[in-house]
Amino acid sequence: MTELEQLFEPEYLGDQDTDTHRVCGTCGKLKPVNEFYKDGRDSKGNIKYRRDCRDCYKKTRVEDARRKEKLKNGQTNR
Ligand SMILES: [Zn+2]
Repeated sequence: MTELEQLFEPEYLGDQDTDTHRVCGTCGKLKPVNEFYKDGRDSKGNIKYRRDCRDCYKKTRVEDARRKEKLKNGQTNR
């Protein structure tokens, strides 16, 4: 976590992050990094992780899918 990245993520709870654990940006829980999806690498070659843990990511995906499904249904019903 560089100072520049912190500037771009003001609500980021990076204080509690360690090499093995990070704080989920959605549920705010400290979880092991293997509970997070990888999100490519930064300029230094360090592995980046998504801000949300897998649980939260899944929930977001499900909600997204539902919203899209609703949209789709709404369109076909008209
Ligand atoms: Zn979470």
